[in-house]
Amino acid sequence: MPEVHPNTDQVIADNREYTLFSWSVQNQTHPIHMTGGKGSYFFDADGKSWLDMASQLININVGHQHPKVLQAIKDQVDKMCFAGPSFATDVRAELGKKLSEVTGLAKSFFTLGGSEANENAMKMARLYTGRDKIITRYRSYHGATMGSMSASGDPRRWPVEPGIPGIVRVFDPYMYRPPMGMTAEQWEEGSVSHIEEVIQMEGPHTIAAILVEGITGSNGILIPPDSYYPRLRALCDKYGIVLITDEVMSGFGRTGKWLATQHYGITPDIVTCAKGLTSGYMPLGAVIVNQEIADYFENHFLSGGLTYSGHPVSLAAAIANLKVYEDENLFEHTLELGKHLGERLEAMKAKYACVGDVRYIGLFSVLELVKDKATKEPLAPFNGTSPEMGKLAAYLKSKHIYAYTRFNMIWVCPPLVITKEELDAGLDAYEEALALVDQMILG
Ligand code: PLP
Repeated sequence: MPEVHPNTDQVIADNREYTLFSWSVQNQTHPIHMTGGKGSYFFDADGKSWLDMASQLININVGHQHPKVLQAIKDQVDKMCFAGPSFATDVRAELGKKLSEVTGLAKSFFTLGGSEANENAMKMARLYTGRDKIITRYRSYHGATMGSMSASGDPRRWPVEPGIPGIVRVFDPYMYRPPMGMTAEQWEEGSVSHIEEVIQMEGPHTIAAILVEGITGSNGILIPPDSYYPRLRALCDKYGIVLITDEVMSGFGRTGKWLATQHYGITPDIVTCAKGLTSGYMPLGAVIVNQEIADYFENHFLSGGLTYSGHPVSLAAAIANLKVYEDENLFEHTLELGKHLGERLEAMKAKYACVGDVRYIGLFSVLELVKDKATKEPLAPFNGTSPEMGKLAAYLKSKHIYAYTRFNMIWVCPPLVITKEELDAGLDAYEEALALVDQMILG
């Protein structure tokens, strides 16, 4: 249970004085002093419980402090805390086999997180094809290391530009705001056909891979139309391009399946994952490759490695975490609760002037907020914020609801263990906040 911390002001002051916080101007950071958690809630140093409607960074899928994952970590620590990446271990065998089983792919290469997984996936695709360029999308995030940051399309890449060479970007399956004045119907066709045109212009023989998020996460839950992935798969087959899907955020139950692309009936050539692989209990990412790519590396050098690749404690955490998904039927729960979430989001769209669009699949969802539904003018500019978005975030914070907001969007991505009652309580608070925004925009 939450307890009041005796020295919280000093802890926060020392955090601020001696450490740097990511993605922030340091003198504008106001970190919550987190002391523990349970299920859908985490605790702060004032002894308050926060409902975690963002699963931290959309990763803590089995919820805070799941006893079975904790126990597996403790057991592995006692047994063997570390083995170098060239050693065989039982946990490595077990997790590798399990990942092949659930993805339909062949072999896994282990990293420490999503950014490194994408770095290695791009490298493997380049080695395998002997080609250089990687096609990615504008509204995407693939990580903060140099290659993965360059591959990302969203504004977080701007500070590292020009970044790594060879990245070519295309537009997204963003059906609420199709580019170039197209209608959603036209863009359903155009979202893939323009990629083929880009391939032609770049030279098909120069393109190693197309790297896309399974379903775009931090750029706004962009859910592709049904035809998108089968057509993208066909395009990659036609030109011998490796299809890499980044399932770091969308994978491992977030959408109610192991991989988001399983909703579309296709199998990528490479899948990258992290976050929900261990629910964040230990750092771990993976690059999972198909049989052809695995075969290629049977007699070609795999030029890459990490001291902590295959870290036994991370692997043990992942094995236990995946078992929790299955033993507790969490994917079924996610799909079931996702239906209820979808209904509530649609009702919010109908009720509040500021809700322009809602997008949801499983427990992966967002509300896109506007000043005017007819013109779709965003409630905050791209890469910016606004008094209205500030008010929304501050209101939820005052109610101890932890939510992820960015630009003109607010996400609903709670832990997959959340109950209907907890979810409804969180959504009720969102509605109160939306009513305040409506007051601001309607006057
Ligand atoms: N890919 C996607 C889709 C992500 O959402 C993220 C992180 O949010 C990453 C990659 C980077 O993962 P990590 O922060 O573990 O390096």
